[in-house]
Amino acid sequence: MEYGFVIDNRRCIGCHACTVACKAEHEVPLGNFRTWVKYVEKGTFPDVRRYFTVLRCNHCQDAPCVNICPTRALFHRHDGIVDFDKEQCVACKACMAACPYDAIYIDPSTETAAKCNYCAHKVELGLEPACVTVCPEQAIIAGDFGNPQSPISRLVALEQVMVRKPEKGTMPKVFYIAGDSTSLTPGAAPRPVGYIWAQRPQSEIDADYHRAGDSGVAYTSYDVSHAKPWGFMVSFYLWTKSMAAGPILAAALLTLSGYARAPVLFGRLAPMAALVFTFLTVILLISDLGRPARFLKILLHPNPRSWLVWGAQILTAYSTVALLWLAAGLLLSEPLFAMVQWPGLILSTLAAGYSAFLLAQARARDLWQSRLLFPHLVVQAFLAGSAVLSIGAVYAISGRALVDLLLRSVLGGLVVHGILILSEVALPAGNKDASDAVRYMIQGPLAVRFWFGAVFCGVALPIYLLAFYFSHPGPGSLLPAAVCAGTLLGLLVYEDCYVIAGQALPLS
Ligand code: SF4
Repeated sequence: MEYGFVIDNRRCIGCHACTVACKAEHEVPLGNFRTWVKYVEKGTFPDVRRYFTVLRCNHCQDAPCVNICPTRALFHRHDGIVDFDKEQCVACKACMAACPYDAIYIDPSTETAAKCNYCAHKVELGLEPACVTVCPEQAIIAGDFGNPQSPISRLVALEQVMVRKPEKGTMPKVFYIAGDSTSLTPGAAPRPVGYIWAQRPQSEIDADYHRAGDSGVAYTSYDVSHAKPWGFMVSFYLWTKSMAAGPILAAALLTLSGYARAPVLFGRLAPMAALVFTFLTVILLISDLGRPARFLKILLHPNPRSWLVWGAQILTAYSTVALLWLAAGLLLSEPLFAMVQWPGLILSTLAAGYSAFLLAQARARDLWQSRLLFPHLVVQAFLAGSAVLSIGAVYAISGRALVDLLLRSVLGGLVVHGILILSEVALPAGNKDASDAVRYMIQGPLAVRFWFGAVFCGVALPIYLLAFYFSHPGPGSLLPAAVCAGTLLGLLVYEDCYVIAGQALPLS
């Protein structure tokens, strides 16, 4: 069975009965919606028409929310309905980051994810979803697409239908008859500062700036707002993870390539920094969960397809190797040190880069689908690790040669990081939404933060100061330490811009 919906736009009168019935059936809190009606008005007076579009979960056959959910709280039922189990949900909001249709919200009363579940409790009794029952125009048709002879399958076979964002490859099962592409394409119809019956949050208004003028004869006169799932905690987590993976990554690379041997700095400080920042990363991850007490569910009820689960396993394995590395450093044991170097290099690379696969699973966010993300995260970790070790080397009075080697690593990391940033923003993006997200970052509300904080203070100035340092050799620890601190701060600003811009554009 493959349950789904057809929305017949020829019949819909935009009465919102489906919205209200759904709210009543599922006790959906104020400000949240499992289904809603978007209004788009087109034309110029007096030749104007209002289009109504009913939006909701598409019960996708290839559902990004099901793939990314770390605890299998979102799942496919045998009848094709994408349902959720709030008892398993840890409120990590990964499903919200992944759903290309803004179909999921966090229920404030349970602090767990919720969405249209096709009124599965009614379907099990042989009844139809509440929205279907209440619609006065029979504009919402429910049925089984798995049976080619079912009325809904025949309807889709006979009529010309559209789906939302077919390019996402999710195989949605909500089909629109007489669908309006301007209404179904997010942002195609510009939004005014306020809707006919509703205010809009400032963050959404900011995100519209680049869209104005996309369509001179259409605008969205009513819609609902959707929260951005991930905030500063996620940016901070990406940053601490770079600092966690970086020291061992840099130490392993410099040792294995034969450039340096530093038993105290590489053998003790590097694994200590790795362990402290890994601990901080895990604390941030847990405290960002709406249900932190449920963190263990990620380990005990894991979804093997979720990169959140793989990330937790990688960080656990990485911490184990860091502990062994520290033991080798404390015992000054050459054989143990030789044993952990390669696993340290591999696991620190994975710890730095796995977030690229996690962000790629967030299929809704076009900016995060970049192929440069994995190498860039690894370079950021190398840069962060070199900066942390440089500060350690300066204050541990490790000797000029080692300090200079580490600062050269910082310089190299900065140059590659700068090239990768420019490539991310200058090379053609995968699609229009990705390039709009880039423009949001470099020309829109984030422009000052991006250019001044991430690029000037985080890359250009440290490169200049390091070049000055190497051309005017002399004692002093202030300049290298300030350069490294600036570099680390710039990395944090860049992560934050990237996380915000990735979620800036409307999805519905
Ligand atoms: Fe529904 Fe979104 Fe999940 Fe698709 S990805 S099944 S639309 S919640």
